[in-house]
Amino acid sequence: MASTPALAPVTVTVTGAAGQIAYSLLFRIAAGEVFGPTTPVNLRLLEIPNAVTAAEGVALELFDSAFPLLNDVEVTDGRATAFAGADAVFLVGAKPRGKGAERAALIADNGKIFGPQGHAISDYASDDVRVLVVGNPANTNAAIVVAAVENERGGSGVSAGHITAMTRLDHNRALAQVAAKLSLPISRLQRLTVWGNHSTTQFPDVTELRDAATGEALAARLSEHWLTEEFIPRVARRGSEIISVRGSSSAASAASAAVDHMRDWFQGTREGDWVSVALPSDGSYGVPEGLVSSFPCRSVNGEWEIVQGLEIGDVQRARIDASVADLQAEAATVRALGLV
Ligand code: NDP
Repeated sequence: MASTPALAPVTVTVTGAAGQIAYSLLFRIAAGEVFGPTTPVNLRLLEIPNAVTAAEGVALELFDSAFPLLNDVEVTDGRATAFAGADAVFLVGAKPRGKGAERAALIADNGKIFGPQGHAISDYASDDVRVLVVGNPANTNAAIVVAAVENERGGSGVSAGHITAMTRLDHNRALAQVAAKLSLPISRLQRLTVWGNHSTTQFPDVTELRDAATGEALAARLSEHWLTEEFIPRVARRGSEIISVRGSSSAASAASAAVDHMRDWFQGTREGDWVSVALPSDGSYGVPEGLVSSFPCRSVNGEWEIVQGLEIGDVQRARIDASVADLQAEAATVRALGLV
């Protein structure tokens, strides 16, 4: 006999709900891929006023999909309604990076979106809410949400450690490249790390990579030339490659990575493995405290823990430092603009 949903519903907010990423993400959440096959979901779709009608169209398609786990869908342009009681939030909607747009202008525009969203999450979401920022510049947008939560008048029940940014797509892209190079299935690869910013300075690091089946360390099978000349630049620039080949951005793989991130957060990472998550640094690996930077993380009882004790060689140190400098420059822009 088919099992029936038994658990209390999870309330999930997705912003930018009429956009390309949400068009894939929402259906996978409703199908039970994030919270499991017996957990019903309430979806809250936030859009800007002139995209609300398009989001309502997406809600009609969600309805037509007759997902057994989809309890309720609400479309709104109001933050209070969108974040009310949210257990999980995907912040996808962001001001798009126009051609030739200056980084400071992009950060300024996004600060006006993510600051108020941080306050609204403090005010209306569940205190235990888990937040994933997908909209770019994701790390810095997440830092703006963290600042909003921390500066909330009267204090916020929301923990800064529950505000993360997505480097899981970079992680997945790196895994796929290495699997193809070594002719190994993805499921055999463990312990890859993407460090730093979700930008071209990110550092996909295979130093600790191992074969899950045999325990063999795999880094020695990858030449320094391939790593520095092909692998690292290809992973860092994969978004542009997809745009030039597909003609539009990598929305489905971004949605897939968002599913992976939130599923692992709620349900745990694979035994013996870790994944890449950008979260506020606690000073680990010399990354200044508070910077939202990507680390190797395990999800333990619903909390991300940075994997400790990895040895960092000189080459790794230089690459991590370069990406941290990139994050610090973005943080300086945020401060100069008075966004925090
Ligand atoms: P997408 O759904 O394709 O992308 C949304 C955001 O995700 C962008 O910031 C994009 O960054 C980022 N992103 C992160 N990783 C990836 C990736 N691998 N591939 C593509 N994008 C990635 O954008 P759409 O324009 O289709 O939709 C955005 C929606 O957000 C619109 O419906 C708009 O109305 C809404 N919006 C909502 C706002 C709000 O909630 N206040 C504010 C602004 C817009 P990048 O730009 O670098 O590609």
